[in-house]
Amino acid sequence: MKILFKNAKILDLDSKEGIFKGNVVVEDDTIINVSQQIKEDNYDKVIDVNGNILMPGFVDTHCHSPMTILRGIKDDAPLDEWLFNNVIPCENKLTSEDIYWGEKLAVLEYLSAGITCIEEGYFDNEAIYRALKECNFRARIGFGPTTRDVGVDNLTYLKNESEIIKETDLIKKVCFVHSIYTTNEEQISQCVDFTAKNNIPRSIHLSETLKEVGDCTVKNNQKTPPMYLEDLGFFDRQTLCYHCVHMDKDDLQILSDYNVSVSTCPSSNIKLASGIAPIYAMQNKGINITIGTDGVASNNSLDMFKEMFLVATLSKVNIYDASVVSARDVLKMATINGAKALGFNVGEIKVGKKADIILVDINKPHYYPQTNLLSHLVYAGKSSDVYLTMVNGKILYENGEFFIGEDKETIYKKVNEIRERITK
Ligand SMILES: [Zn+2]
Repeated sequence: MKILFKNAKILDLDSKEGIFKGNVVVEDDTIINVSQQIKEDNYDKVIDVNGNILMPGFVDTHCHSPMTILRGIKDDAPLDEWLFNNVIPCENKLTSEDIYWGEKLAVLEYLSAGITCIEEGYFDNEAIYRALKECNFRARIGFGPTTRDVGVDNLTYLKNESEIIKETDLIKKVCFVHSIYTTNEEQISQCVDFTAKNNIPRSIHLSETLKEVGDCTVKNNQKTPPMYLEDLGFFDRQTLCYHCVHMDKDDLQILSDYNVSVSTCPSSNIKLASGIAPIYAMQNKGINITIGTDGVASNNSLDMFKEMFLVATLSKVNIYDASVVSARDVLKMATINGAKALGFNVGEIKVGKKADIILVDINKPHYYPQTNLLSHLVYAGKSSDVYLTMVNGKILYENGEFFIGEDKETIYKKVNEIRERITK
């Protein structure tokens, strides 16, 4: 299958202008040509982009996709009350089939918002793996210790869960340790050993709230969460940490020393009143910063445009300096930095990259005058501007229609039924 996208404005964050006029050829799952001249060839499909923007799909580095079922379950409550009194009791009622449908609802939302790759962190990976595979969606799926009664010891559980996730071009796996406040030292050490032996990267929620940091220092002889994890050898392998809101200079130095990537999730952090992550300080330490939406129970939509706007603006107000963290910086975080953190060959429209591409319709009032398009994408853009979404060379969304092998109305009906049942 050979597809030509012609007459596009192509995002190229390495170039001075950031965008250039050109054409892109995709053959099967790979970008094989990017040029200003149209390459004569026999194409199976020609898409006239009509001067709109062609850019890499967004990489969302922190998700709990099946939480779509819990959207709006408890707004206006602090994290502890939200999580332990509302989210977890409902999650305990979710069946494997419920999780499968919640995952599919999330895929619809990702695709319509231009998100083509995620890091997934939830439970019941059999259902998640099946849903993602059926949709032809790209993901790094997390498996890890659980607080649920699973009838086997932690190590056996890790091994079983890891084996469910078969790695392909579209699917990778990661050991997802939920957090230091939901696991104990023994469980974390077992994850460290297991991933070292099996060559698997690691992820964790880290320093998300003041309470997490305070509890950790009291319990662990004044060690902050990064210090505590460093002592357990957690950062010895490729690691991605979600949130990283409350971090001092020494904490950031630890992340920098071990080349840890960060997934910042601003809408979740402000809605749960957790705080504002020190993005500018992270940049100064050379940390690979990426962006995550987190689950919709806390944010409440899977929208990278919203997150990009918030990363840029909150980082400025956080240090009262409007000159820091530019539109170009956050576009990199949402694409190439995320791809690097998850280890996928995506995140740029370049020859040899896997074809995860989105078409953004800029023939709308909020993109005019059509100058400074990087700025417009971040400060004026909306997820509803996404017209087409391609994952691994396949068009999965175009002009409101989904092509994931499942009717959207079936998914909507199922999740309504599930929600009604679990909140009875
Ligand atoms: Zn999370």
